[in-house]
Amino acid sequence: QALASQEIFDREKKYGCHNYKPLPVALTKGKGVFVWDVEGKKYYDFLAAYSAVNQGHCHPKLIEVMKQQAERLTLTSRAFYNDVLGEFEEYITDLFKYDKVLPMNTGVEACESAVKLARRWAYDVKGVKDNEAKVVFANENFWGRSIAAISASTDPDSYSRFGPFVPGFVKIPYNNLQAVENAVSDPTVAAFMVEPIQGEAGVVVPDAGYLKGVSEICKKHNVLFITDEVQTGLGRTGKLLAHYHESIRPDMVVLGKALSGGMYPVSAVLCDDQIMMNIKPGQHGSTYGGNPLAAKLAVTALEILQEERLVENSAKMGDLLMAKLRQLPKDIASTVRGKGLFCAIVIDKKFDAWEVCLRLKENGLLAKNTHGDIIRFAPPLCINKQQVEEAADIIVRTIEEV
Ligand code: PLP
Repeated sequence: QALASQEIFDREKKYGCHNYKPLPVALTKGKGVFVWDVEGKKYYDFLAAYSAVNQGHCHPKLIEVMKQQAERLTLTSRAFYNDVLGEFEEYITDLFKYDKVLPMNTGVEACESAVKLARRWAYDVKGVKDNEAKVVFANENFWGRSIAAISASTDPDSYSRFGPFVPGFVKIPYNNLQAVENAVSDPTVAAFMVEPIQGEAGVVVPDAGYLKGVSEICKKHNVLFITDEVQTGLGRTGKLLAHYHESIRPDMVVLGKALSGGMYPVSAVLCDDQIMMNIKPGQHGSTYGGNPLAAKLAVTALEILQEERLVENSAKMGDLLMAKLRQLPKDIASTVRGKGLFCAIVIDKKFDAWEVCLRLKENGLLAKNTHGDIIRFAPPLCINKQQVEEAADIIVRTIEEV
């Protein structure tokens, strides 16, 4: 006997940690840009699992590869070689043009690994005295929930009453080049890690030229520039990586989420030998990192982005979606911002973004607010023109009714 939505909500409430406040919808099936709840109602998925299902729900090629690899070999640990990890390493370093890759599982692990690599580089290459390296972050950054990630956070909900915190982290305003210059001119700074567009902060797009400026300033001061592309990467913003919009090459790139197309946690750090080779056997690792199932899925997920021209589609459909959203009355949605299919609206404070998301759900579209007044729209990148138009109609109609 299948459970009704309410029973599913009640069971989670009774047995699970209440660390999320999900929209009251219980999903059981997904295909492409759509998901279905247990009562059979169909919805547009305009969150795409925080941009992890860029390739669309239950992509048939990913399912096929997952089944095949699951039947052969799933996990060896890195105590032994497996015959897929190298294929993934060669493929991803060739695609993104870095010497080496470090495979991990979740986004937070990969970001933390990037911070470890930067600190090690500071000691071994830059010559910073042991235990004195600093890493700089932008205010309102989000890279996860570990003790290190919340130590970098400026959101009291994230860090309050979880201290003490990791030392050596410096926080500066986002989208402010003078602040970067001031911070990284300190000779003990190892790196500046930043999201090319701040995702959880509400799809905050910096001024054109910001990333290029950061890149130049970091180079001038011999500081590593790390882009956290966990959410913005892999086609989400209309380029394969969001920092391609400014034609720059950071010293390190962090990827996650869509690296497996929503099948399995796969993340990675990309950088050149002068950074990666400072870590020696036994100094970093993960039981599941680089496992054959993950490696196979990641290659396939990256192939799909290219074969189906999802990056180009994201750019085109994103422009269409934002043009439609700009038709919303300005007194309700004062701002529409984003790049590609990574966009958000800021709604007037007299409306409650959570309530708007509840109404969108009633009308057949799932989206999630960040903060009380921002709603992010980030559907799978396989969405087509007719679907964007229909979804935009739902959004506009729902918001005009509020
Ligand atoms: N970095 C960014 C930019 C993110 O948006 C997120 C998650 O939302 C993370 C890192 C952490 O990823 P995960 O939740 O897989 O640990």
